Amino acid sequence: MDNQMIAANGLEYVMNTYGRFPMALVKGEGAKVWDADGVEYIDLVAGIAVNNVGHCHPEVVEAIREQAGRLLHCSNLYWIENQINLAKSIVDNSCAEKVFFCNSGAEANEGALKLARRWASRQGHTDKVEVISALNSFHGRTMGALSATGQTVYQAGFGPLVPHLLHVQYNDLDSLKEAVSEKTCAVLLETVQGEGGIIPLDPAYLAGLMELKEQYGFLLMIDEVQTGMGRTGKLFGHQRYGFDPDVFTLAKALGGGLPIGALCARGDAALALQPGEHASTFGGGPLVTAAAQASFDVITKGNLPEAAEEKGQYIKAQVASWPGMEGVIKDVRGQGLMIGIELIPEGIGVKIVEACRLKGVLINCIHGMVLRMVPPLVITKEEIDKALGVLQDVIKAIA
Ligand code: PLP
Repeated sequence: MDNQMIAANGLEYVMNTYGRFPMALVKGEGAKVWDADGVEYIDLVAGIAVNNVGHCHPEVVEAIREQAGRLLHCSNLYWIENQINLAKSIVDNSCAEKVFFCNSGAEANEGALKLARRWASRQGHTDKVEVISALNSFHGRTMGALSATGQTVYQAGFGPLVPHLLHVQYNDLDSLKEAVSEKTCAVLLETVQGEGGIIPLDPAYLAGLMELKEQYGFLLMIDEVQTGMGRTGKLFGHQRYGFDPDVFTLAKALGGGLPIGALCARGDAALALQPGEHASTFGGGPLVTAAAQASFDVITKGNLPEAAEEKGQYIKAQVASWPGMEGVIKDVRGQGLMIGIELIPEGIGVKIVEACRLKGVLINCIHGMVLRMVPPLVITKEEIDKALGVLQDVIKAIA
């Protein structure tokens, strides 16, 4: 079937929850993908920060093939060796001491919310139930994660939301000070707000937050669903800032392209959830953890975080050097290969995305204002130059 036929069938049979482009991707390799009509694209979207090791990395594909022939699924009532190995890899490479596996970012954050409340109640603090997150944040679409998400656009029509989840201005210490109290069991933040427009955490704010944590004794939980797995130039986004969160969550790139989420914790937070208190039928199954392990090894052994930092610096410098962009580009920012280009004229973001697509470059735009680039960390210099060439021409023509 070609793009048109697939899109027509999709409109008929699939729930209309996405505004989709009239094309279907059918093949991928590294930073390139092909649609059902055989058209090739450079992929700066990468499944929205999922394909960090590139599409169909041979080591990930081989691990899936090998595991698929042995055991696809078994219950978490039994030990799963691949799951243990992956947990060990995360623990060996971070501050985490224990890991719980689930299937998505929303689920990982849902688990974090439960963990925080159970951590407090286990200590007898039954009224320490409030979780503070940031306005403009994104934590997922399930009821708890949606309630923690600080963007009303995603919440409208789904109320009542989960109570006792408060929101404060991101990077604004006074706003946080007003909300924090003895009732706070956790603060949940992204180190770079992704869906919020690629906005990095301010180190001065973090320092103030740490003082409040000392004073009030809450858990610091970092949502690394988008920033994790080398995306920001370190294996995990918080490592850029040099602090150890009590809890961090992973998903997206963790599975090398397969669905998996992880709830990672240290200290007494790592012991907060006990048998029967949290579970997932498919969480950490043998197939997805085989894929995730292969992807993890490719990222760490191949120094992909360092590569992301270098390539990201290059992209930001290139964009900043484009002449004649005053009045068009307000800012180019981000960490590693998580880059945002903030536009000034209203409404051009969507047009730029479409024009790039027609010229063989897939790029995403957040809230119509910020072009987001989150390509595979293995993208080549030639692919970057080609994609930036298209983007520059398109922006010039549209602006
Ligand atoms: N947290 C962050 C920071 C995200 O960017 C996302 C997805 O974009 C999520 C959570 C939700 O992840 P999922 O779509 O896997 O549920």
